[in-house]
Amino acid sequence: MSSRKRWQNIYTDENPFALPQTVANALTRCCKGPGGGSCEGVKYLWVHLPGNSEKAMPVSEAKALSPDEWLCVIDEAASVGVKSMIISVGSPLRQVPQLLQLCEWAQNTHDMIVGIHAYVALEPTDIEVLKRLDIQKTRVFADGEHVESTRFVESVGIPLHCADGLHDHEEQPHCDLPSTMACVGPEGTMYTCGLVLGQEQFSLGHIFNRPLSNIIKDATLPHTIPAGASTNTHRCNGCPPLMAKKMQEDLR
Ligand code: SF4
Repeated sequence: MSSRKRWQNIYTDENPFALPQTVANALTRCCKGPGGGSCEGVKYLWVHLPGNSEKAMPVSEAKALSPDEWLCVIDEAASVGVKSMIISVGSPLRQVPQLLQLCEWAQNTHDMIVGIHAYVALEPTDIEVLKRLDIQKTRVFADGEHVESTRFVESVGIPLHCADGLHDHEEQPHCDLPSTMACVGPEGTMYTCGLVLGQEQFSLGHIFNRPLSNIIKDATLPHTIPAGASTNTHRCNGCPPLMAKKMQEDLR
């Protein structure tokens, strides 16, 4: 099934993402204008792509979003004012075929800053993928154990940051940061944040079932993480608002 047919099956309204960039920009202005102020506060899109790593969320190939559908997700995020995207991948970059297209679209169409977060060690040949991106709008985040082996990205001028969030021994506190982001799993289901990816009680529904702004505004959905909600390892790694803070700290 093509992505457009799939879209029409699961989203009864006219597909707003078939619109060209100029209209997407108009949507952004509309959302930010009178009556659209409730979208304020959502700054980040957190995309989780399928990967081979055990840290990546398991996903069936048939249900995984197509590249076209991911572009729709990026368009919709831009329409609510998102200016930064982090893509978490569980494979070396050359093994993630849709990565380049998604990053280019976010950077060139929506002028987004794109962070690439890898749960695995990147390989020196991944530099060929990174070199094709807008270096000025690209950041790489590596889990602590992979930071030194990832330093090669700095040779092309891409800033490298440690992706570590909570350490394993740290108790996870109550967190309000999810209200600043839209977090989308590999099958298009939104979750409160990446810490609870795949956990049904933190599912916000499929991103194509409702306009993103409605999901964000729906107070019946879980938009915070209670203390102790997850005991996952590598907890909070790559979380966009945390990474934004790290970048600021690294600049000091
Ligand atoms: S990943 Fe961690 S820091 Fe980020 S929103 Fe979730 S609980 Fe908060």
